[in-house]
Amino acid sequence: MTRDSRYDVLFQPLDIGPVTAKNRFYQVPHCNGGGYRDPSSAAEMRGIKAEGGWGVVFTEQCEMHHSSEIAPYIELRLWDDGDIPMIAKMADKIRSHGALAGIQLAYSGINGPNLYTKEVPLAPSAMPIRTFTNDPVQARALDKQDIKDLRRWFVIAAKRSRTAGFNLICLYGAHGFGIFQHFLSTATNHRTDEYGGSLENRARFVREVVADVRDEVGDTMGLTLRLSLDEMVGDLGFANSEVRDFIEMHADLPDLWDLAHGAWEDCSGPSRFKEEAAQEDLVRGIKSLTTKPVVGVGRFTSPDVMARQLTSGTLDLIGCARPSIADPFLPKKVEEGRIEDIRECIGCNICITGDMTMSISRCTQNPSFMEEWRKGWHPERMNEKGGSSNVLILGSGPAGLEAALACAKRGYDVALAEAGDVLGGRVKRERALPGLSAWGRVADYREYQLSQKPNVETYFGSELTAEQVLEFGFENICIATGAAWRADGVSRQHVVPMPIDAAMPIFTPDDIMAGRLPTGAVTVYDDDHYYMGGVIAERLVEAGCAVTLVTPCAYVSDWTNNTLEQVTIHKRLVEMGVDIQLNRGVVAVGNGAITTNCTYTDQTREQAADAVVMVASRLPNDAVYEALKAREADWADAGINSVRLIGDANAPGPIAWATYAGHRFARELDGEDIGDALPFRREIAELAD
Ligand code: ADP
Ligand code: SF4
Repeated sequence: MTRDSRYDVLFQPLDIGPVTAKNRFYQVPHCNGGGYRDPSSAAEMRGIKAEGGWGVVFTEQCEMHHSSEIAPYIELRLWDDGDIPMIAKMADKIRSHGALAGIQLAYSGINGPNLYTKEVPLAPSAMPIRTFTNDPVQARALDKQDIKDLRRWFVIAAKRSRTAGFNLICLYGAHGFGIFQHFLSTATNHRTDEYGGSLENRARFVREVVADVRDEVGDTMGLTLRLSLDEMVGDLGFANSEVRDFIEMHADLPDLWDLAHGAWEDCSGPSRFKEEAAQEDLVRGIKSLTTKPVVGVGRFTSPDVMARQLTSGTLDLIGCARPSIADPFLPKKVEEGRIEDIRECIGCNICITGDMTMSISRCTQNPSFMEEWRKGWHPERMNEKGGSSNVLILGSGPAGLEAALACAKRGYDVALAEAGDVLGGRVKRERALPGLSAWGRVADYREYQLSQKPNVETYFGSELTAEQVLEFGFENICIATGAAWRADGVSRQHVVPMPIDAAMPIFTPDDIMAGRLPTGAVTVYDDDHYYMGGVIAERLVEAGCAVTLVTPCAYVSDWTNNTLEQVTIHKRLVEMGVDIQLNRGVVAVGNGAITTNCTYTDQTREQAADAVVMVASRLPNDAVYEALKAREADWADAGINSVRLIGDANAPGPIAWATYAGHRFARELDGEDIGDALPFRREIAELAD
């Protein structure tokens, strides 16, 4: 197949200073939770994107000097020559597929607490450090000598970047994370010298650094400047109008304008709250202020929306982080006319949790993300088929669907048995909840892909029993039968069922999703702490209930701090009139009332409720598996080689855990027994003498 001519515009080369991007697909810098701790994992992941056709591939934020770092978060480091091999490996991987390799140089200024290096943070003005964790640290204001030093450090970092083989340098001044923004914004720059006050003065530092770096490497490397389109902190901040003034005043300053948005949570808004191309209005018209190319982001997954950004003169390059994670081969698929094969990002922000939890990232849609090197998983190619030939999969939730697709790609004959009459399991239910429709792509993508596979048969209305499984004679059995929300309140506050009066109507999220709704004054008890409690509260308000949300946590939907949604969720619920009760548990459910307790003092109080929705924990549906295990002695006669329990039926978790489990099942089918060996590669720090 060949590409549709309306996408030709996405494949025109473009000069960025002295270098040329082969097309308009621009992977903007993004974190991955691996960084300096897992450099080969990060390098391989970037190389795969280059293989997938991205014209430009950037590193994540790279701390360019030891006097400014954001520990405990794990990014890249370029503190001395010793770090060059680590980043050179990444540059090599990217360039080996014809992409331009970009490095984002970050000096974190007012955002760097320096918990690791113990250096005193330096920023334009002396202020408390601004981080997610409100660290009790203040920065000292840079004096004139510090500014000279910092300019020199940027030049040194640029030279090291060139030595490592990069083609592009991004100077980071967006998301509140980079010092260029701290100088430009009157919120963080209170200086009275020639670096503060007027916009002309606040822009002096970036002008100087660009000139210094260009003098040193500008003949061979392109220089980009990454700014937020609007700092989103009101009049004091670097707002959209001033960003435009700045660009107009400095039209030719960098070789490319990289326009991000607000704080990270504004820029990486989840699909629950932000549409594709959400920044279009903020970026429109900026191109006319400069002769240099402009790249912008907007969770672009549709080639038509991408092409429109270019043909309408809004952007010159399509910036993507999450869409490139969900489908590293997106450009190749557009080029080859395989639009329907694009694995679209669902905007869940699970990838971001890898960075926020300092672990390693995963992606709901692309289970191979960050496993390219650790496990040798390629997002488009499966390992060869093993010795057996068929597999029966029970359940078509995200785990079963991914297992089916990945097994089919390996060449197994796959039978997918689903108890209900639609594919998707929990995704089919959850996509109907407020704001979660894009999550349905998890099922839609796999449903279409499976329909293209001749070696997959799907059976609906097939709630199989262990007996039937034994009769059917498949060699491999994969049980992905999901989980059900429990109604007895057991989760973290209660490790055994809480006292519940039988007269009180009790609901679970499964009831709400099935359309069984309470009426009147409803208490949502959230001891789960991810999105479900907040979403159910929203759904009930829509249904006309008066909703009280009680949670033992200090935050509504606490874990969504890691998906950058928590603030927006709280705001949404307040605006909808939900009565939010934090730091309170539910100790007993009576008839027409519940008893809540303060999680600190244990003081209790009674409050009226017509119904309670328990958002507590889930129970695995593992009955078929247990029944099969009990009949292990019959497996050989039935022709069964293996029986595996995966996904929520094994241990309930987020959807990304289920797709990962499905993929892993398929990868490891017929694999050799590795015994007690580690199931992935890792890098161990070399001990110094
Ligand atoms: P996961 O997140 O692990 O994929 P889900 O709960 O989303 O789990 O999906 C489980 C699916 O399994 C549901 O669609 C359910 O209807 C189906 N299912 C449950 N029990 C059986 C069974 N015995 N045979 C076939 N399908 C089943
Ligand atoms: Fe998109 Fe979710 Fe994957 Fe992140 S984890 S790239 S938001 S699908």
